[in-house]
Amino acid sequence: MRLTVIGCGDAFGSGGRANTCFWIETKQGTVALDFGATSLVALKRVGLDPNRIDAVILSHLHGDHFGGLPFLLLDAQFDSRRATPLTIIGPVGTSGRVAAAMEVFFPGSSGNKWRFPLTIMDLPCRTAHVFADLEIWSTEVVHPSGTPSTAVRIKADGRTLAYSGDTSWTEALVEVADGADLFISECYRMAGAPVAHLALDTIEANRARLNASRIMLTHMSAEVLAHLPAIEARGYLVAHDGLVLDL
Ligand SMILES: [Zn+2]
Repeated sequence: MRLTVIGCGDAFGSGGRANTCFWIETKQGTVALDFGATSLVALKRVGLDPNRIDAVILSHLHGDHFGGLPFLLLDAQFDSRRATPLTIIGPVGTSGRVAAAMEVFFPGSSGNKWRFPLTIMDLPCRTAHVFADLEIWSTEVVHPSGTPSTAVRIKADGRTLAYSGDTSWTEALVEVADGADLFISECYRMAGAPVAHLALDTIEANRARLNASRIMLTHMSAEVLAHLPAIEARGYLVAHDGLVLDL
């Protein structure tokens, strides 16, 4: 399993980083984990073809995590001229919210007759789903987004990637990280209890219970980005746009 960080920024472009999107290649294909508002631009900036994405897996339905889908779909329809199937898998409510986003940004577009097979799947929490060679599993976290926000586990090629999504601290993170080769955790502040997000001191306090081989921090505010050398010295991987990791 090869991970390329397409975007690891917060919602507000801190540090010039793109909205969340992780590009994951396995033996049988490619998935994007989250697809934020700037993700299509970020993909094209690094020369990756959006038509290579077999599935988009969504942690939750905030614009910086799924808001790029209207652009991805219309690019596939009119510019990239996609012919291969695309599957979008997200929390229950995803199909309705994607259609709503399409209508807000490009009125009438949700009724397009797509030139490629498009499947949008509402995946209930704690329900394992197999897509190609991937096993996908999610669990609800604490982050209001209109539908369940989730942390996600993806297994393929004998490797497990776990991702917190956006959340304040919840025991669900211990479960989702357990045994993972890589746990990608959001880290929005250095300390305290940011609303609906995690702080580094909370991750530190629970680090011994996060049974993952490596922890990579993402979704960092300007405050956190100002402390990167000290954070790396504590043994965390720190995401940056363009980072490639083999799991
Ligand atoms: Zn969010």
